Amino acid sequence: MEPQAILEIVRKLYPNATTTTDAVNRLFAVLKEHYGLEPRQLMHADSICSDDVNAMEYPPEARAMLGPFGMGGLNGFPFTGLTGMGAFAHHVPEDGAVFVYYAPHIGVTKESKVGEINRVGQSRPSACCGAAKAALGKLLNDEIQPGHVTELDYQQNTIEQIFLRRQDRIRQAAIPMMEATEVMYEAITERIDLLAEKTSYPCRHLILMGGILVNGDHDVGSFNCCRRFDVIDLESRATRNMLEFYENLP
Ligand SMILES: [Zn+2]
Repeated sequence: MEPQAILEIVRKLYPNATTTTDAVNRLFAVLKEHYGLEPRQLMHADSICSDDVNAMEYPPEARAMLGPFGMGGLNGFPFTGLTGMGAFAHHVPEDGAVFVYYAPHIGVTKESKVGEINRVGQSRPSACCGAAKAALGKLLNDEIQPGHVTELDYQQNTIEQIFLRRQDRIRQAAIPMMEATEVMYEAITERIDLLAEKTSYPCRHLILMGGILVNGDHDVGSFNCCRRFDVIDLESRATRNMLEFYENLP
């Protein structure tokens, strides 16, 4: 199947999605034009799921930045916390900027199945995000107990609690897996903002990009549905929304 045909399938679910390579190129173009920033001046952190597919489908263009520092655990929640955010913040070049990309992920197969992908060497699709799908299954079977968070499965239990708090929305949705992904996006955004507020950065700008990371089958690659592209001036604390510039590039 042609890449354009796959993109059309993804866009039926996520209208403004682009390939992740296109997303990185758009990011670089906007930062160069409006801030004169080159990729090598960007200290990059990502908060995406630990799933091996995200490593295999990582856009090579993103390697032009410094990093990445991996903040994400299961489904992209920034489990490295305040210490993680503080660590890479202090690795930024003096004339550079900190760039954080965060996203929960969701699979979409060539057959438009949502929440699954075909992985290398497997004849049947499997769950993606597996953690989200497992937590959703428990939610729909009424198996999540409020406040139940264990040391042995801390990240997964945290996701379960996030879903439990928004269970009405998820249960009523036409596609619960998509709604669960939205709930996750909001929870990650809220946490990233809190971590950013409590961190000091030895540079002028903090760049936050949030989205939904859509994984295709193994021979297809990944897509980014960009939801937020903010540049925060750390001196004035003014936030500039760059999404329009990002989306209007050819
Ligand atoms: Zn995952």
